[in-house]
Amino acid sequence: MLHNLNFLKSKLSSKTKIIAVVKADAYGHGAIEISKFLEQNGVALIAVASGNEGKILRENGIKSNIIVFYPNITEVSVMLKYSLEPAIYSKKILLCLLDELKKSSLTSFPLHLKFNTGLNRLGFSYNEIGWINKTLDKTCLKIKSIYSHLSSSEEKKISSLTNTQIKVFNKIKDRFKNINPKIKYHLLNSSGVFNYPHLQYDFIRTGISLYGYSNNKDWDKYLLPIADLTSKIIQIHNLKKGDSVGYNSTWIAKKKSRIAIIPLGHADGIGRNFGNSKACVWIKNKKAKIVGNICMDMFMVDISNINCQEGDSVIVFDTKNSASKFSESAGTISYELLSSIGKRVNRKYL
Ligand SMILES: *Cc1c(COP(=O)(O)O)cnc(C)c1O
Repeated sequence: MLHNLNFLKSKLSSKTKIIAVVKADAYGHGAIEISKFLEQNGVALIAVASGNEGKILRENGIKSNIIVFYPNITEVSVMLKYSLEPAIYSKKILLCLLDELKKSSLTSFPLHLKFNTGLNRLGFSYNEIGWINKTLDKTCLKIKSIYSHLSSSEEKKISSLTNTQIKVFNKIKDRFKNINPKIKYHLLNSSGVFNYPHLQYDFIRTGISLYGYSNNKDWDKYLLPIADLTSKIIQIHNLKKGDSVGYNSTWIAKKKSRIAIIPLGHADGIGRNFGNSKACVWIKNKKAKIVGNICMDMFMVDISNINCQEGDSVIVFDTKNSASKFSESAGTISYELLSSIGKRVNRKYL
């Protein structure tokens, strides 16, 4: 992870700082341990998605500034109680925050403003700026940063929508610059850092690249996936031609076969789309195809051509056979696979 952090830093100008995204339990890697590591290695801010995720970090000793990307109105009191910095994206949640602050004795409270510039997900629109400034005037709320999110940062060439988003973002920046020159600005996620380094502004927000992925083969080679997912064969069966495997008998042995049972299932994040000969795992350095439907607690692989025994190790993904390759075989992406790895999968930190 330090390697990935340093590689990202090498792409940034000396004034651009890093917001490290540890939402969704640090993309499945364990938000508490990852945040402790990031805190020791100096990132400007840590980001989570919900107030509850921020609360868990505070309860486990994380002292860094924490930005909450997607707080909802029921979480406003959590923001105050745990000193979390909300990203405010609508009139409604801004008014809720002001209400809550009136009840407190705080004299200053930081917030970030999220603008919708074309992704059409959360965010204020450009023409709400007048209302925002009038509403914030003479309150204890301090705008720390203003940001937006690109729809297509994975595209190497800037699309016309991205161009529009950049223009709108710069217009927003111009409006606020005169009011308060101290406000910071940010637009890029991980892919943005690689594809559009000239749009760095004051911060970049990186998640997936900290964990070793870039959404692009050219950049992947500079990053190191930080986690392996391994398991062990718990049983082996010898099948005759015509025997079937798993629920609904979706796999039938065409010849005498050997199959191994691996104790990971859709409850562990290996979704049903990985089954029925779509994805492979690695046993004794050989590919073993997942056969039949994935079950809740296990899946089966064809080991007819692999000399292995019960108890042998199984690699689902590691640095070489990355989570992004494994995801691709089932038509999904590293983000979804990593963040779906279930709670009961034991995380070991080396
Ligand atoms: C999750 C998230 C990010 C991080 O994106 P990566 O592609 O993982 O780098 C950045 N910004 C916002 C607003 C996010 O929600």
